[in-house]
Amino acid sequence: MNSILITGCNRGLGLGLVKALNALPEPPQHLFTTCRNLEQATELKKLAKEHSNIHILEIDLRNFEEYDKLVGKISEVTKDAGLNVLFNNAGIAPKSVRFGATRQQDLIDTLQTNTVVPVMLAKACLPLLKRASEVNENVSLSVKRAAIINMSSILGSIQANTDGGLLPYRTSKSALNAATKSMSIDLAPQKILCVSLHPGWVRTDMGGNNAPLDVATSTEQIVKTICQLDESHNGGFYQYNGEQLPW
Ligand code: NDP
Repeated sequence: MNSILITGCNRGLGLGLVKALNALPEPPQHLFTTCRNLEQATELKKLAKEHSNIHILEIDLRNFEEYDKLVGKISEVTKDAGLNVLFNNAGIAPKSVRFGATRQQDLIDTLQTNTVVPVMLAKACLPLLKRASEVNENVSLSVKRAAIINMSSILGSIQANTDGGLLPYRTSKSALNAATKSMSIDLAPQKILCVSLHPGWVRTDMGGNNAPLDVATSTEQIVKTICQLDESHNGGFYQYNGEQLPW
């Protein structure tokens, strides 16, 4: 892929994805990363100093009115080439537990960040994704042409839910999965691939210390998996290593 936009790159899986992509034999020509607070994004800034393909864009993704500006900045760099991949990675997980302890505000906030943001950002990036798809008309459906990758979670799987609880997080990721499916159908004529991805249970601020996977292992496999996506994967739900998951 020539260009990719990844959200939430100052820490956790987002930062890991940036490192894994730049470790490829042919890293993306342009790697657009977002963070909420540039001043605090020390490691990301260090990486950007070392690799000129990394561009940092500061945005709180709940500020929907700033999306046009974000898209404009990407377009200034990629010119007529558009954007090959939008990777919706940023997310939150409130510390809510059982149904009885569920708070209204947690439901609203989590749905906003984990569902509304990825959908609206995809909508804002659509002209750039369409452009990339058009200029690569001889390339088959893949991240080399145009794609939207939504970072979901196995906790959003309705079929795999045997434990209950975590209502804000689970519902936000189930809704994101529903959005992935719809977008994969809606954008098929424009040859834009769309999938949901579960990164595994990973040791990040969100995943906690007991998670079995480290960031590098998860993100290296995610990068390998997304590079292998084709028409047969469109509208599906996969985990980091490419294994298909139940909705
Ligand atoms: P972290 O909590 O470590 O990082 C979350 C990232 O999202 C941070 O960069 C954070 O920025 C950013 N973010 C959150 N809200 C906003 C916002 N409003 N605007 C801009 N950026 C925002 O989480 P992970 O790296 O573990 O998770 C990344 C993704 O993977 C999430 O979507 C998560 O749901 C998913 N996931 C993670 C799993 C795990 O085990 N870790 C398992 C399954 C799914 P800031 O630093 O400013 O807060």
